[in-house]
Amino acid sequence: MNNPTPPVRPLVDEPLPQPKRWGAAELERLTAMVDQPSLFYWKGPQTTALVDEFRRHYPLKYVLPCSSGTASLHVAVSALRLRPGDEVIVPPISDMGSYIGILYQQGVPVFADVDPRTYTLDPADVRRRITPKTRAIMAVHLAGNPCDLAALTAIAREHKLALIEDCAQAWGARWQGRPVGTIGDFGCFSLNDFKHIGCGDAGIMGSNNERYGPGLNNWADKDYGRAEGGRDPETLAPNYRISEPQSAVAAAQMKKLPDIIARRNRAGELLTAQLAGTPGVLTPLVQPGNTHSYWFYMLRLELPRFAKPRAELAAALTAEGVACSVLLLRKAAYRWAVFQNHDIFGGTWPVRDSGLTKMDYRKVSCPTTEAILEDCLKLPINEAMTEAYIGKVAHAIRTVLKRFEK
Ligand SMILES: *Cc1c(COP(=O)(O)O)cnc(C)c1O
Repeated sequence: MNNPTPPVRPLVDEPLPQPKRWGAAELERLTAMVDQPSLFYWKGPQTTALVDEFRRHYPLKYVLPCSSGTASLHVAVSALRLRPGDEVIVPPISDMGSYIGILYQQGVPVFADVDPRTYTLDPADVRRRITPKTRAIMAVHLAGNPCDLAALTAIAREHKLALIEDCAQAWGARWQGRPVGTIGDFGCFSLNDFKHIGCGDAGIMGSNNERYGPGLNNWADKDYGRAEGGRDPETLAPNYRISEPQSAVAAAQMKKLPDIIARRNRAGELLTAQLAGTPGVLTPLVQPGNTHSYWFYMLRLELPRFAKPRAELAAALTAEGVACSVLLLRKAAYRWAVFQNHDIFGGTWPVRDSGLTKMDYRKVSCPTTEAILEDCLKLPINEAMTEAYIGKVAHAIRTVLKRFEK
């Protein structure tokens, strides 16, 4: 009888650690909540608690909890009162949620390229994309790495543009010691199921700007003027309300934020330290003085140094137990069908068809973004990862890549 070959132990010989995300704290709030006479957000105790908890981390005068991160960004764009055809500069590596509000407000997302090492907006390219119609810059702190807010703030001031911070992936990240979301005119956050903290779906945003802050609630609540007891909308605004069950879970989650961020930051920094000097690997760059909160970890491969294409390197890493993907960020956003086909409303794009913009997304090109998406490798980071686990991942990456060096 033949002896079966023993299975080869992969270099990462344990499954990806999974944090337990919800427990007693969430249950306690939900239990208190079911005794309430109403689950409506307005003056709801859970929503009030969520706003209080949020403010502990984000000292913002005006805070609006809402139904999603997308909603929080749409509210920010609505507050700008864009005229059809007005432009908002955005990066091409982000979630559709960054662009949705701009398009619904009949604005034009204008893509600017990103920095090759931080993957966030390149201020020099932002400058090049400014036109007389530019109204705002949307700074996406991708993966939790703070944008160059010094440069972006200066550009915004110089050209009288609003600065919207998309912090959906950047809970707990800090720019020069200050929490991201408190530097621009708006800080917008997601509480969807996949973010650092979540409650299924919700969002929260805020502003310290006296021009935009007081009206925020109306942009998420039918322009009903609830604070004034009114029901006489003056303009079009959707219903993006949060509700008490979401707020109950989110308020409890908010207390866990410092611990989650500290653990994720440690894991990401450790991975970078352990990959330092690996031939052909460019680890993500964090500007000195900033804190990355590692919603995920993205490195770049110097592909000409390897004998095989990225897909084969990734397959070899997967075979050694490294949880990695090249699939999630396949294309620059302007290459998505919605933009390529300009299919915004019923197969048309009214602002373009009526001549209010000449934007043609088929002609947009951001070379650095495209290069990144060709050679990047995305690795998960979470708060349950131990030093030992990270050590195994780093060792596996070094070992596998060495096999393929030219
Ligand atoms: C998740 C995400 C959004 C949208 O948040 P939702 O809560 O899913 O609507 C927006 N921008 C970025 C960068 C995101 O990662």
